[in-house]
Amino acid sequence: MTTQQDLQNDATERLARREWPATPIRRQIAVSFEFFPPASPTATRNLFECAEQLDRFQPRFMSVTYGAGGTNQSRTRNAVADLSLRTRAPIAGHLTAVGASKAAVRDVIDGYVNEGVRHIVALRGDTTDEVGPHPDGFVDAADLVKGIRHQVDDPSFEISVACYPEVHPLAESAEADLDNLKKKIDAGATRAITQFFFDTDSFLRFVERARKAGIDVPIVPGIMPVTNFARIRSFSERCGATIPAWMPELFGDLDGAPEIRQLVAATVAAEQCRRLAEHGVDTFHFYTMNQPALTASTCHILGVRSTEHETHGDQSSDARSASSPTDKQEERAS
Ligand code: FAD
Repeated sequence: MTTQQDLQNDATERLARREWPATPIRRQIAVSFEFFPPASPTATRNLFECAEQLDRFQPRFMSVTYGAGGTNQSRTRNAVADLSLRTRAPIAGHLTAVGASKAAVRDVIDGYVNEGVRHIVALRGDTTDEVGPHPDGFVDAADLVKGIRHQVDDPSFEISVACYPEVHPLAESAEADLDNLKKKIDAGATRAITQFFFDTDSFLRFVERARKAGIDVPIVPGIMPVTNFARIRSFSERCGATIPAWMPELFGDLDGAPEIRQLVAATVAAEQCRRLAEHGVDTFHFYTMNQPALTASTCHILGVRSTEHETHGDQSSDARSASSPTDKQEERAS
């Protein structure tokens, strides 16, 4: 019978066989974190804890995903509003175009702006059997970016968009996909965040092609720590991310051993970020899956330090800095 100790020894050996980056990270690393909206009171409490814990890494922003086609849109708006009060980091709201009229999407934009949101992650969203393009909707993400710029009269308002180092599965070609990204930037997007990837070279090649195509905004790698390998494998199939051969070798038998998987996953995510940092990348966006531990340990390995500032339960006014969560609440109340 394989014991936990056997698994641990085996995982340690496999990690030891991997190549490690030779140089330490010398640059200042910036991070951002993505959450999904919670569906129950317990999940809501979990999200708050997760966001409060990760807020201590002083992220550039934290964002909340949006269910294309109406599944959890009010949950997103509530989570954005709640997190805006609870965290120091600016909160960005995701927004999708499919399945909604322009009028409905504009209402959501107004709602975000009224909540004090200064950053939207603008997406087309996936079409499904139930959710298709709306006859009076924004046709794609570029059209949505144009719509946001038209509606929000503030050049400092940030708009991030998605991009795909391994090409969107429905794109006609890699060139068409890159042209589409260029269209989104030309329409007013200020940052591109990638789909997650494990083939780090695909990101490096993609950035090179994007720069040659005249795309000059930050292209931020989306990092997905392996919270559950079976689930990641299934996500990857759907979004076209390659699972390199070393991944099943490393993670294949660890879903039943979460503590070991956690250690291995943090190491692998940090290794990927370190390799990217060696190539000049200094900003990372983490798909947290609302689980703080892996993302926090990866940030720590990258040299991003948590400031042990007070959370909601410990708000001594003397210790607060100018943009503490409580200040945000006061601003909103006034
Ligand atoms: P676009 O930029 O409009 O298109 C991207 C590429 O896909 C283009 O090449 C385009 O031609 C092709 N394409 C897309 N759809 C079709 C189609 N139906 N037919 C033909 N070609 C098509 N999804 C959510 O629902 N909610 C979220 O909050 C969310 N957040 C995301 C955040 C990031 C950082 C990323 C990378 C993805 C996110 N997604 C989210 C997934 C995203 O909605 C899907 O990948 C979607 O299929 C494409 O969205 P887009 O904004 O990239 O679309």
